[in-house]
Amino acid sequence: MSSRHDLSPTPTLSQSHSGIPERLLAKATKAKSLVYETRTTPNSVPRQRGIAIPQGISQHRFFEALDELREELGTQHVELNDKELRSGWYMEHPNTHDMMNIVEQEELVASAVVYPACTEDVVKIVRWANKYRIPIFPISMGRNLGYGGAAPRVRGSVTVDLGRRMNKILNIDPDDHTCLIEPGVSFYALFEEVQKKGYTHIWVDVPDLGGGSIVGNTVDRGVGYTPYGDHWACHSGLEVVLPTGEVIRTGMGALPGNNTWQTFPYGFGPYSDGIFSQSNFGIVTKMGMTLMPNPGGYESFMYTFQKEENLAPLIEIIRPLRITNILENVAQLRHCLQTLAVRGLPRTTYFGGHGPIPQSIIHEELEKMPIGDCTWVYYGMSYGPTHIRKYKLDIIDKEFKKIAGARKIDPTTLPKDEYFWSRDRIAAGIPDLEELLWVNWMPNGSHVAFSPVSPIKGKDAERLYELAKKRHAEAGIDLMPAFCVGLREMHLIVEIVFDSKDAEMRKKAEICLRDMIDDAAALGYGEYRTHLVLMDQVAATYSWNDNALMKFNERLKDSLDPNGILAPGRCGIWPERYRGHGWEMGKGSGAGSEGIGVMPAGETRL
Ligand code: ADP
Repeated sequence: MSSRHDLSPTPTLSQSHSGIPERLLAKATKAKSLVYETRTTPNSVPRQRGIAIPQGISQHRFFEALDELREELGTQHVELNDKELRSGWYMEHPNTHDMMNIVEQEELVASAVVYPACTEDVVKIVRWANKYRIPIFPISMGRNLGYGGAAPRVRGSVTVDLGRRMNKILNIDPDDHTCLIEPGVSFYALFEEVQKKGYTHIWVDVPDLGGGSIVGNTVDRGVGYTPYGDHWACHSGLEVVLPTGEVIRTGMGALPGNNTWQTFPYGFGPYSDGIFSQSNFGIVTKMGMTLMPNPGGYESFMYTFQKEENLAPLIEIIRPLRITNILENVAQLRHCLQTLAVRGLPRTTYFGGHGPIPQSIIHEELEKMPIGDCTWVYYGMSYGPTHIRKYKLDIIDKEFKKIAGARKIDPTTLPKDEYFWSRDRIAAGIPDLEELLWVNWMPNGSHVAFSPVSPIKGKDAERLYELAKKRHAEAGIDLMPAFCVGLREMHLIVEIVFDSKDAEMRKKAEICLRDMIDDAAALGYGEYRTHLVLMDQVAATYSWNDNALMKFNERLKDSLDPNGILAPGRCGIWPERYRGHGWEMGKGSGAGSEGIGVMPAGETRL
């Protein structure tokens, strides 16, 4: 059971770059206690396998190399990862491994963590890694929970934790509505700074939880919920340390003395930013971001729909409304089980049996909640002054009510702690901390997502829903799908909540995910983002023309990173040194994450 010291106060933003804003401290305290109430194992577990020395170097030489790096960066900025692995929780996550591990916890662990203070330090680390052929793995905040957290793909990589010391907001331009930030700036931190400066005319787009790094989330193509929700589309300008140690600035940043780095993303020549997103081609040390103007008013709305079969006709209604911007933000259509789970109570509160929770129990419980019984819940937001909102909301109401049984929930009837208000804040660019509550559905609650992209069409939604339902039933896992509707496509996000201390449940979850990826690919759907252990399988589904895209990525990788030191295997891209040594993970590759060796060192190629 959890020990008392686990309930120490959550660090605040004034104490740590990754801390919680003071305004959310009470919420963090409550969230933390709910997490620890459902935890059945101690926060730390003794290591079984010792320090994870990366393949291709002896322990002795690795320690010598670390000593050399200590001299370059300062002893306190190089930490050997030789302690027990601590799990923590969202706000106090580890930077050494995936605390929501889907494979055995000691698979995806770092050998050491290093903390650069500036771009020059990152260059030093990269050059050092080339000298010794040590794999390094950059993280900004490492809160990429559900997709691998802070863990490296290659066991024994040295994690480069950029966020701890590179966390400055370098500029906020209140006229252009842009900012320039370092990797350690969280959505919480930028929001608080904008408020502190009194820039009420500027909004920050935020994802479901505000603790992630803006740079980390953006390069991994995460989304938020205002009209500026496509973070990658909204960035403008990168500073990147290449795997060989050169530093480049993209877009207008390449022009010395420019004054448009954050206002015109393209510059001149090939648009190179794309290769630094969901890749292992560079380490982003600065990023520009465009910020949304305050729309002058906003109003959240929520509709519920009664029947499972309402899904397809509803998606058909949503598409034209979304494309014409009557529905203005990345809106969410969630299955009602998530609405029940987001109360933060364990599943055993409602059901003590095995296998998926019966639908009848879900509906009985919803009946008792303020939103009432339903199968689908739509959360949306309308922006602008009252008369503009009314124009759009009237159209939405008329269209949504074409579904028999559709109900608009009057927000004034909802208590202040109802989840609706969290969505209201998020869609208004106010970062929050409620989303993680559904993770408590399971003891030692962890989550991992299946995230396919599809057209906004009823038949596609139905196919993906049926596919997920079938595979969840086979695995005996509760199904919690949410459709996130972008402008011309939607991501279906199916979060599998599992007990990370239960090896059998973990395996079932992994099989379920791998089956869904294959099923979806057979129907023409691919994932927009995935967990470290699924990256090889997902990358392999993008195989058109004899894997031409992966061959291109490998050519880029080998030319930009000739020694294969930067995040090998991330997004399924393996450098030459690792190829053909069995590093890929997939169905049938067994439980391990490692291959057998790497190509011998030879001369350092720089
Ligand atoms: P978040 O802070 O949003 O939790 P992470 O820091 O975990 O995000 O980053 C998500 C993923 O993106 C990481 O696993 C890492 O591979 C990649 N990444 C993060 N920051 C950088 C960066 N500055 N440069 C290159 N890749 C990065």
